[in-house]
Amino acid sequence: NQVPTVRLNNGTLMPQLGFGVWQIPDAEAARAVGTALEAGYRSVDTAAAYGNEAGTGKALAASGLPREELFVTTKLWNGRGQRWGRDEVLRAFDESLARLGLDYLDLYLIHWPRPMRDDYLAIWRTFEEIAADGRAKAVGVSNFRPADLQRLRAESPLVPAVNQIELHPLFPQDELRQVHARLGIATEAWSPLGQGKGLLELPAVTAVADKHGRTAAQVVLRWHVQRGVVAIPKSVTPSRIAENLDVFGFELDAEDVAALDALGTSAAARRIGPDPAEFD
Ligand code: NAD
Repeated sequence: NQVPTVRLNNGTLMPQLGFGVWQIPDAEAARAVGTALEAGYRSVDTAAAYGNEAGTGKALAASGLPREELFVTTKLWNGRGQRWGRDEVLRAFDESLARLGLDYLDLYLIHWPRPMRDDYLAIWRTFEEIAADGRAKAVGVSNFRPADLQRLRAESPLVPAVNQIELHPLFPQDELRQVHARLGIATEAWSPLGQGKGLLELPAVTAVADKHGRTAAQVVLRWHVQRGVVAIPKSVTPSRIAENLDVFGFELDAEDVAALDALGTSAAARRIGPDPAEFD
């Protein structure tokens, strides 16, 4: 298929565009993920917290695609009040694998840093083991702030392969992208379409879309791709699922990129999801 890859810091290749499944009920996940795999997606982003690893796994199995052509990501849930000792982390990892019906993951992430609990360093120690035994080809983090990444860097020889963060034209995350570049961490954008609300109707976005004869979602995804970011848009609508993958046959010029970049410092710029400093 035509989706380019980014090379992670451990040498593995990750498709630059994947399918996100947050908020898709387990009973619908098999159909939605199946539609995405048929459309040509090979990367799927789920999480223990999404409650749809089983449905996702059904679609992976039913696709008949060779395991090595798939790139599957899931995440260790925060588990409010949960004590994440080594045994609990290993058990959560095994349970995710079992629900997905896989014997290894391509990427396993710590879902949130939860700085108030001060346990991500201890969790990362167990992630080092999971990476060393090959049951996750790569391990990484999500929603980590610059200070969290510096702390991991100071305390562990293992640099996260990926930091999956909220990122879209209204929240461009320039500081984190610079920190990632310095540390060798790939940037993965969650809510790459700004959850579809507002962003896709902004005149700055629709003007670029009209100029290229593309949709607003396509030009926003193209903006991510041209910045070297991995994006994981979500949809349950077959036509949109296909449309969101079809972003490799056109290019934004400097003027288009400047117009989309300008949204990041506009009055509309904002975070949509929770603040990692507070989310538990
Ligand atoms: P998104 O930016 O992908 O937006 C999805 C929504 O946009 C859809 O529900 C739909 O309403 C709309 N949409 C999708 N395609 C469209 C199209 N072509 N045209 C018009 N509207 C369209 O938002 P998201 O689901 O929040 O994020 C994507 C994925 O990122 C999630 O599914 C999940 O896998 C991941 N994620 C991770 C975290 C985290 O904490 N790590 C948090 C949120 C999301």
